[in-house]
Amino acid sequence: MTSEWLDVIQRVDAIAELAVESRLVGEMQRRGTVAKPLPIHFYTPTFKTYRSLELTDCGRSAWPAVSITGGNCKLQCDHCKAKILEPMIPATTPEVLWDTVVGLVASGAGGMLLTGGSNHRDEVEYGPFYPTIRRIKNQFPAFRIAMHTALVDYATARQMADAGIDAAMMDVIGAQDTITQVYHLKRGVDDFERSLEYLNETGMKVVPHIVIGLHYGHLLGEWNALEIVRRQQPDALVLVVVMPMYAPAHRPFAVPNAHEVGQFFLDARQALPEVPILLGCARPPGAIKPLIDAYAVLAGIDGMAHPSEGMVELAARLGRRVRVTPSCCSIAVGDEVMAVAENGSVELDLEEIMEHERRARLAHGLGIPVAAGGCASGGCR
Ligand code: SF4
Repeated sequence: MTSEWLDVIQRVDAIAELAVESRLVGEMQRRGTVAKPLPIHFYTPTFKTYRSLELTDCGRSAWPAVSITGGNCKLQCDHCKAKILEPMIPATTPEVLWDTVVGLVASGAGGMLLTGGSNHRDEVEYGPFYPTIRRIKNQFPAFRIAMHTALVDYATARQMADAGIDAAMMDVIGAQDTITQVYHLKRGVDDFERSLEYLNETGMKVVPHIVIGLHYGHLLGEWNALEIVRRQQPDALVLVVVMPMYAPAHRPFAVPNAHEVGQFFLDARQALPEVPILLGCARPPGAIKPLIDAYAVLAGIDGMAHPSEGMVELAARLGRRVRVTPSCCSIAVGDEVMAVAENGSVELDLEEIMEHERRARLAHGLGIPVAAGGCASGGCR
């Protein structure tokens, strides 16, 4: 039985040599993770140059990330040190935010990720921006805004909803040691669950993130975070994998173990059978990336940003319906969350994928390598 899926992997040229753990692949197959058959959406976020044999990007400005603190962050977590904010569009006053959005709309952007650095309580201070956000939504109702909320109380969550935010996103951390040591925060795990609960109560679409390997590259609070998410039943869950290159030299992060990450994908799928689970664009580059991506496809993850070479074909060979959507996974989150009708996505079958791959390989020799590097904009934070 297991050999069937191992055989399928070997039939996909780009990943035929992948060092998957056969026990884990067998467990995924036995659990019927893609049995429904389960469709999969591949997203091509635009805030990072992306090229692969199978998919191309959709332009750089469709879903940009905008930071209300520019590159500044008071919290300076060990896994990021504000680097995630650096490539974002800075809009540090309400006036600049308005002008920025007017420009974005004029250039055809469909929405934005609104974020910023945190204060010492892991809150992003959006206060002065809410009237402008409301004005943006009044003037451009089709322009979608996903907000990285960080921790909130109920009043703040309400302000976000009243301003017209479409989707609220926050990282859920399930281990006190990670909150204290990696984030330098005097907050508890309960604060993360309460924030998620408050966001859920507002009626906004709620899309929590779990950063896998957040404890210096090791998995610690992930399963507890998953349990919190399971209790709250949000609109979708985004998983990302920590990227060690953001960490400072004196507090290095290990590269997370890909098989453990794969096991977590499987556990997440089993815990949330009805909640769309998406793999965000942040995950470590290099040889580990196709391994992580393959586990995600096999585990029955519903969507993936920046798929590695071979993932589209793997999904199709597993009998999954393949759709490609030219937008950022964390905002559009497919039809599941925003009820965006098709959103310009294209459905592909195995024949088309093989033909496309054949032509691309002919045109580019053996092929163009998948762009290495993580989420340049932090759009997945
Ligand atoms: S993860 Fe967020 S809060 Fe932490 S340093 Fe980076 S930008 Fe700041």
